[in-house]
Amino acid sequence: MPSSFRSVMFATVIALSNLGLAEAQEDAPRQVLFTNVNIFDGVNADLIENGSVLIEGNLIKTVSANPIEAPDAEVIDGEGRTLTPGFIENHAHLMLMGPSLSAMEANSTWEDFGIHATLMAKMYLLQGFTTVRDAGGANGGLRRAIDAGQIVGPRYYPSGAFLSTRGGHADFGNFTAPPGSETNFGRLNMAQEVSGVDDIYLYGRNNFRMGATQLKFMQSGGVVSAFDPWQLLAGSKEEIEAAVQVAGEYGSYVMAHSYRKEAIMNALDAGVMSIEHGFSFDCEIAEKMNEIGAYITTNLTAFDPGLLDIPAVKNQPSSLAKAISASATFANYVPNMKECPVKRGFQTDCVGTVEACNIQIAYEKHLNNEFFGPYQSMVTLTSIGGEIAALSGDFTNPYTEGKLGVIEEGAYADILLIDGNPLEDFSVVGTGDKWFGAEPRPESPETIRIIMKDGVMYKNTLN
Ligand SMILES: [Zn+2]
Repeated sequence: MPSSFRSVMFATVIALSNLGLAEAQEDAPRQVLFTNVNIFDGVNADLIENGSVLIEGNLIKTVSANPIEAPDAEVIDGEGRTLTPGFIENHAHLMLMGPSLSAMEANSTWEDFGIHATLMAKMYLLQGFTTVRDAGGANGGLRRAIDAGQIVGPRYYPSGAFLSTRGGHADFGNFTAPPGSETNFGRLNMAQEVSGVDDIYLYGRNNFRMGATQLKFMQSGGVVSAFDPWQLLAGSKEEIEAAVQVAGEYGSYVMAHSYRKEAIMNALDAGVMSIEHGFSFDCEIAEKMNEIGAYITTNLTAFDPGLLDIPAVKNQPSSLAKAISASATFANYVPNMKECPVKRGFQTDCVGTVEACNIQIAYEKHLNNEFFGPYQSMVTLTSIGGEIAALSGDFTNPYTEGKLGVIEEGAYADILLIDGNPLEDFSVVGTGDKWFGAEPRPESPETIRIIMKDGVMYKNTLN
């Protein structure tokens, strides 16, 4: 979206809110002072002990190990709790409620998708996520509603329609539908079949026109999906480069769903900046990623042995065979990542009900800690997520007033106040050690006492 248009919209929002909130708007920016908090700044393993953080308006004004003088501020005594940046989800699908892709293609209307996404947005914020990047299926409408304060949700980075080749991972059409058939997902610009660079130009630009902040290209297949072997090597060099070119026109980038090593290397060669899943990850890939400054996001639930028992896999011989061969190939994923570290973002990749995704998010948090320990997991959930969001560039990124995912002067006031110290006991961030058969989870983890986004308090159980 051109920035001039956005500023017109922004002015309109301010003007409308002035009608009801004239007094509040005219006063000096509201200040909130957190005292007596141990600060995890999103980057450093050492907490700032017994520190203070001053918020002014929607930004962090001061961070200090000493008391801060702010006579007009509302004071919140943290009583030794941990203050952290709000969490960042780098790969969600807020529109996709399931139960399966074919069911959504056949039966779901825009109302179903919109209502589900509204509930998902609220759930994510109350789980402590102040920013969510959507990895396919959502356009700019949900973000408009959240940012205008019409509904409750995180900052939101949609990718528009998945860009997928015929038979690729986001070809959600019916089995018998001939090429070029209209689909439900296509009509709603949630998934588009692309064939050749002209289609990439058309649908890639259309995504940005409809509010996407980056593009999502499907290079590899999947396990449960219908037509695609996980080893699929979709997208020619020219097609992937065309996606990168279109994103570049908007100052933004491409995220690619990539499994096979060749797919990952092709993506990186073309200038893709965010590798999704990347299950064939190895040290050669790491070297290339670090050379160009690319990121990976990891859905660690993919390694849960329970996956082989879910009906969609177990009862479908082709899916079961795919799952078994994939697990064998991906066995070194985590060890390789430990040996050759890269910048790794958090991803849950849930498609399902709000309740099911709530459980999956908590389990994904748990697995991060199991595989990478609490410090790396906290960095993944905060500052790295912020760096990935910022890849959308100066004029397409909707949130450019401050940094995301860090506690530092000038950063956005996206803040959690947590009972205990997540660097010592990671469970306080709201983990769940079970996925299949887990109990329903609370609307918000009890240990997360304050959730602030953009300087506004969405949860406060201190009083
Ligand atoms: Zn996904």
